[in-house]
Amino acid sequence: MSRSVLVTGGNRGIGLAIARAFAEAGDKVAITYRSGEPPEGFLAVKCDITDSEQVEQAYKEIEEKQGAVEVLVANAGITRDQLLMRMSEEDFTSVVETNLTGAFRVVKRANRAMLRARKGRIVLISSVVGLLGGAGQANYAASKAGLVGFARSLARELGSRNITVNVVAPGFVDTDMTRALTDAQRDVIMKQVPLARYAQPEEIAASVRFLASEEAAYITGAVIPVDGGLGMGH
Ligand code: NDP
Repeated sequence: MSRSVLVTGGNRGIGLAIARAFAEAGDKVAITYRSGEPPEGFLAVKCDITDSEQVEQAYKEIEEKQGAVEVLVANAGITRDQLLMRMSEEDFTSVVETNLTGAFRVVKRANRAMLRARKGRIVLISSVVGLLGGAGQANYAASKAGLVGFARSLARELGSRNITVNVVAPGFVDTDMTRALTDAQRDVIMKQVPLARYAQPEEIAASVRFLASEEAAYITGAVIPVDGGLGMGH
């Protein structure tokens, strides 16, 4: 059955791969984008997730055009890496504001209709860094670890309403975000990844789609690593 899916940050990178995976399975897929031309084949809604009013408007448009969101993938995220010594308060708060509070905004708004429907699937995109930490990424790691506590609290709160809330924690994925790393940084990372390569965005998308599927109906509050073994044991 075709469901109404929303993927935040679905205009590129991992989000786009997730959006494509749902569309290929026959779902109706809305994506958010902030600027430029969004990719074709989706209901593209302009929305900055740091702005509650834009989130509200995006949901209204999606509800009107493809129905209430039944599957939400909170994927949009940013990095602003800096050693603590040089990390400004703005570096810290802007990352938390986007990655964690942004997820809160879109989840809260989706939850309304999911509660009414007594079903729903929520998947949050965290990171292996949220579990392992990362030098120069205190802001990012805090935001991504925060998503785990957020998801697990909601899994408890919403489970009796047939709403599952899970987290996917990717390792290093070949996208714009990691293309910004230096060769030296890439070499250090590769030495720690048992599978000795980056993930393709489609490999993250497959796990997200599974968590939103009927087969995953009994999985909630889980953190699924898709990290080539980098975070094993966490
Ligand atoms: P990209 O930098 O390629 O894409 C980020 C996406 O998030 C873009 O679509 C961007 O939109 C969107 N976005 C950022 N800020 C906002 C905002 N305020 N409002 C709405 N949309 C926003 O990143 P990836 O595809 O690599 O990452 C996607 C997710 O996966 C992120 O949460 C990231 O932290 C996580 N992740 C990535 C890993 C990797 O190795 N790449 C590893 C682990 C986790 P726009 O195009 O408008 O900028």
